[in-house]
Amino acid sequence: VPVMSLQNVARLPPLPTIQEIIRMFGLSARKKLSQNFLLDLNLTKKIVKSAGKIDGCFVIEVGPGPGGITRPILNSGAEKVLVVEKDKRFLPSLQLLSEASKNKLDVIHGDILNFNLESVIPAEHKVAWADNPPNVHIIGNLPFSVATPLIVQWLESISTQKNAWSCGRVPLTLTFQKEVAERIIAPPKSEYRCRLSAMCQYLCDVKLKFTIPGRAFVPPPKVDVGVVHFTPKVKPLISQPFQLVERVNRHLFHLPNKLCKQSLSTLFPPHREDLICDMFELSGIGQQVRPFQLTNKDIKRLCDAYARVTDKEPDLLDYDFRDRTEAHARRHRTQTVVSALEER
Ligand code: SAM
Repeated sequence: VPVMSLQNVARLPPLPTIQEIIRMFGLSARKKLSQNFLLDLNLTKKIVKSAGKIDGCFVIEVGPGPGGITRPILNSGAEKVLVVEKDKRFLPSLQLLSEASKNKLDVIHGDILNFNLESVIPAEHKVAWADNPPNVHIIGNLPFSVATPLIVQWLESISTQKNAWSCGRVPLTLTFQKEVAERIIAPPKSEYRCRLSAMCQYLCDVKLKFTIPGRAFVPPPKVDVGVVHFTPKVKPLISQPFQLVERVNRHLFHLPNKLCKQSLSTLFPPHREDLICDMFELSGIGQQVRPFQLTNKDIKRLCDAYARVTDKEPDLLDYDFRDRTEAHARRHRTQTVVSALEER
């Protein structure tokens, strides 16, 4: 008996092209909202393929717009697809797609930056963190201005196993401005090495799948685009709280080409030079190294050392050198006013 593949059974019926949908529903891209659409189905298929095995999976797409990526997701045999779109102009065309998919597609009007995905993932897809990733995928081509804050927010959720990551190690396939994608995957010593590289790589295995020239989008952005795949690690490289790791990396990389000792000095009040020496001694990292040269393991050692130093004096975790600079500036301003008054 010939066995029909699920994919053939589940394919979408013939539909107007994305260009026709855009024309029919008057969906011109809003430059103000950085909307750049992908109309080339070969490219949108390639994005979906780079997510891995979709067949039988629950797929969440963020920022579907007119549905250029949604269609190949539906055609790849996904069991259920949920899209979260902020701009309500796209809802009627997505509804049309939902009907064509025999309601395999659910459409949510919402802002992904304030949306908890935990409640929308069916319980049967939930697996333990240490298991293989669940049959759930998150895919998205969002505006660049949303993609970066979103990944930082989601990294924190990955570290605490909240939001979508309460269901296991849900992988992500997201687009970024090419330079940001290069930063996310940058190895030590790379010119792109930065805080984002360290934060992404301590929690996830990251891969740049391919790049898309800006001219492939409508309207074309001035920059090229990188498609990045993230798989959360079973065990993060650093076992300290996310905020602590973020704090160390923020200070470390604010002066990426200076010596680590200099860039990390802002973690402590100026009269506590002893603590920075303790931190380096505990970590075993040489003070002459520059932040961009550090491996992920070196950064782990520095975070562990910072945790030990601040364990003894927890108030240090709240120390903000900018407060001091501001307080200093305020005092200076007051003194100037006082002296001016005195002079009169
Ligand atoms: N995915 C479509 C494509 O590839 O052609 C559209 C891409 S367009 C760059 C980004 C889409 O994300 C737009 O439809 C926009 O309305 C939507 N979007 C922007 N910010 C969003 C947010 N915070 N939450 C959900 N959707 C958002």
